[in-house]
Amino acid sequence: MTDTAAGEPGADGSGDSRSVVYDLDPACTRTDVEVGTRYRAVVNGVVDYGVFVDVSDHVSGLLHESNLDGETFDVGAELVVLLEELKENGDVSFDLADVDLAEADLLAVEHDPEITAVSAATVGDDVTVEGEIVQIKQTGGPTIFHVADESGVIAAAAFEEAGVRAYPEVEIGDVVRVAGTVESHEGATQLEVNDVSVLEGETAAAAAERLDEAMRERAEPEGVEPLVEWAAFEKLRPELEDLARRLRRMVLEGRPIRIRHHADGDGMCAAIPVQLALENFIESVHEGDDAARHSLKRLPSKAPYYEMEDVTRDLNFALGGRARHGQKLPFLLMLDNGSTEEDVPAYKNLAHYDIPIAVVDHHHPDPEAVEDLLDAHVNPYLHDEDYRITTGMMCVELARLIDPDVTDELRHVPAVAGLSDRSKAEVMEEFLALAEAAGYDRGDIEDIGEALDYAAHWLRYSEGETLVGDVLDVGCDDHERHRELVEFLATSAQQDVNEQLDAVEPHVEHERLDSEAHLYRIDLENYAKRFTYPAPGKTTGELHDRKVRETGEPVITIGYGPDFAVLRSDGVRLDIPQMVTELNEEVVGGGVSGGGHLVVGSIKFVEGRREDVIDALVGKMADAELDEELSTTIELDD
Ligand code: MN
Repeated sequence: MTDTAAGEPGADGSGDSRSVVYDLDPACTRTDVEVGTRYRAVVNGVVDYGVFVDVSDHVSGLLHESNLDGETFDVGAELVVLLEELKENGDVSFDLADVDLAEADLLAVEHDPEITAVSAATVGDDVTVEGEIVQIKQTGGPTIFHVADESGVIAAAAFEEAGVRAYPEVEIGDVVRVAGTVESHEGATQLEVNDVSVLEGETAAAAAERLDEAMRERAEPEGVEPLVEWAAFEKLRPELEDLARRLRRMVLEGRPIRIRHHADGDGMCAAIPVQLALENFIESVHEGDDAARHSLKRLPSKAPYYEMEDVTRDLNFALGGRARHGQKLPFLLMLDNGSTEEDVPAYKNLAHYDIPIAVVDHHHPDPEAVEDLLDAHVNPYLHDEDYRITTGMMCVELARLIDPDVTDELRHVPAVAGLSDRSKAEVMEEFLALAEAAGYDRGDIEDIGEALDYAAHWLRYSEGETLVGDVLDVGCDDHERHRELVEFLATSAQQDVNEQLDAVEPHVEHERLDSEAHLYRIDLENYAKRFTYPAPGKTTGELHDRKVRETGEPVITIGYGPDFAVLRSDGVRLDIPQMVTELNEEVVGGGVSGGGHLVVGSIKFVEGRREDVIDALVGKMADAELDEELSTTIELDD
């Protein structure tokens, strides 16, 4: 009820002030009254068996002659009645109250409308919903308010004048009551607004608390059993659950979500499942509102970190969305990217605005650099684990926590992620068995990974939503097309790799270091085909893998261009981030930057100092110790 005095009429009626009488607002209905309570009434009709009285425009009933004690009333007379019974059939009966209206302590009662849950709004009904304003969009016609309650989000159209903001006092974050008629608009349920009122004071606080409680409950992730038993992974589960809770909450609060992911196989295996799960959840919250799925956007990042160019684009998009569509600023989810110091400038740029950031990544993190800028950071290195727990593996579980119904679509995805990133996870065989049971043998999984990588290369900065889903076979409705597409892309990728390697091979320089390790150098600027697949990073990686296979001994490979070098090593104990620091001191004016994993990475420098940088680099590699055992290579970011 809106009136605090009306909160406990029954208690008051039987309490100290015996003469309290409630004076109903004309708009009051049966939901505002209570049996056993006294009301001010007006006689509207006199019949043989009693008088009819109104206590509001909507609540009238009979005061039977047996209750009148012989008193008579004329139409229009005012009196105090006691509500005796509210019958199922709509009839209301009153008794005469033993209180003189002139001496009564009158308390006004405002109409407290019956609140309909957003999800229960049925086309054709007149309803009042209560919730939080999460978006306000001004169209060329009406103003569209998006109202979120504990059951969902509904669009409410209010018309003042074409293109003129209706209810200018209403702002995002306000708790409101919206009365209107439920209509169907372009397939979605929409409220045609009769009235919007902003709740205030205790009423608003109580409603906000109720909404918060309900949303907290609904944001709770679903309970799911892990796809495979894996003790190391379970250390990450509480954080993944927490992130699932946050993401679900963002959807319930109508906050857009932006996913940025590394543009490679593992990055796609991370982003596509989370996207699918979130889309499903968004659909369940915004019933039938197709436009709602646009509140989720996924984009690849070409660099292995969050570039200033990408963040500027994201920020422009977010601010544009707020200006044009009245949206909240987004929640940023970084996948297979985002854990390192190189991400800091971009994060600092976002920190000027209310844009929370969460990261799921398995690259070697710089926690002290990013910690203060992130709202959530899931990374196996923070739990004494390593890159073998790939981002795709983590995000399949994250997606299942958001929407368990996606499970059947994702059984093969951890295997694709693992092979793409050459994970040495102890459960790789189990992931491959899961994939096998779902109809994909090891060759299929390798091909999917290769095809994803190939597609990512040509997509460049595009999302490629359907294409990527079809390649990964997630959310793909045509299995045959998936197979043909993967076969075509994987074959093309392999052909391109072979052509590139055949072109560079005759120009590879080989030397044996004092440590007995093989060092291979390739000038990619002059001997590799440019602007094609594979790019310098992958070209170096493929060449390196070939040399490791050929020699079976420790190998270091450097592929370099005018102002960059890509490094890969096997069986040699390198610390690339440390080497970068040293190079910067030794080659003055070399402008050396970069890093990556300990034994795999890429560095940049200024073109004029290339020779000095490479010479110094080779010197450091020659000094590096050998590992006792040969480990196979890990993911390369290019
Ligand atoms: Mn990865």
